[in-house]
Amino acid sequence: MDGSPFRGVVAFLATMHGKQWALRALLRRHLGMGLRVAQVDTDALGTFTGEVARVGSARETVVRKARLGMAVTGSPVGLGSEGAFGPHPVAPWMPADVEYVALVDDRSGLTVVESAVSAETNHAHLTTDGRDRPAVLAFLRRVGFPHHAVVVRPVAGPGRPEKGLRRLADVLAALGRACAGSADGRAVLAADLRAHLNPTRMRVIAAAGQRLVRRLATACPACAAPGFGRLGSEGGLPCRDCGTPTPHDVVLIHGCARCPYRLRRPVADLADPGSCPRCNP
Ligand SMILES: [Zn+2]
Ligand SMILES: [Zn+2]
Repeated sequence: MDGSPFRGVVAFLATMHGKQWALRALLRRHLGMGLRVAQVDTDALGTFTGEVARVGSARETVVRKARLGMAVTGSPVGLGSEGAFGPHPVAPWMPADVEYVALVDDRSGLTVVESAVSAETNHAHLTTDGRDRPAVLAFLRRVGFPHHAVVVRPVAGPGRPEKGLRRLADVLAALGRACAGSADGRAVLAADLRAHLNPTRMRVIAAAGQRLVRRLATACPACAAPGFGRLGSEGGLPCRDCGTPTPHDVVLIHGCARCPYRLRRPVADLADPGSCPRCNP
């Protein structure tokens, strides 16, 4: 941390959902950087409950969020955090949470985005008419209720989602209202994915933060700018048994966030025949 170009710098984080609790200690410990919250309506950039659709990818949105905090506070340094739930990028039969964190530093023209993927997520929903109480209770257990909050909305109809529910009585009452207000008499019960109500997600945000601080502590060998790290990869790692190229990475490309310096690191390994298009079509 000695010599960290971020020592004494205060970055602003645009969040309404307590994400500073996953990131602040990491930034201070590894970079000597402070973190403050910028009061910004980040829901304007998209909500998990669908009232506002996100425009663009999570990777674009995380940089936009960092810039939003900078614009509101006038600070040249901003941090952003954005999550995406969907199929696991490597094992698409599993649900996954991909968390992105970004640092934007206009003092030096630096934008660094890091991400972490976790198959541990409670991203799930149940469509119910509310009468099958055991199914409702089983779902709540499965998503880690009440340590994790839930959301209730009508399947079809104008009703807004009721969010942040952490008491059983509130969940059941909201289900009753949503079913009554839905054209087909059914409601959707889902995990609340907002970070402050979802400790599982908060852990993945912290993992992404770990990767970000590690990267910001790595200087470019060519120009000494912070943020040297992985930029991409190339697939085609040969199968261990027959040598056929597989989708696994054969080269990792590391690069600088500021200058054109790139480093190609071949992977010293062979792919498992289980992922080979010839051995295991
Ligand atoms: Zn460089
Ligand atoms: Zn093979």
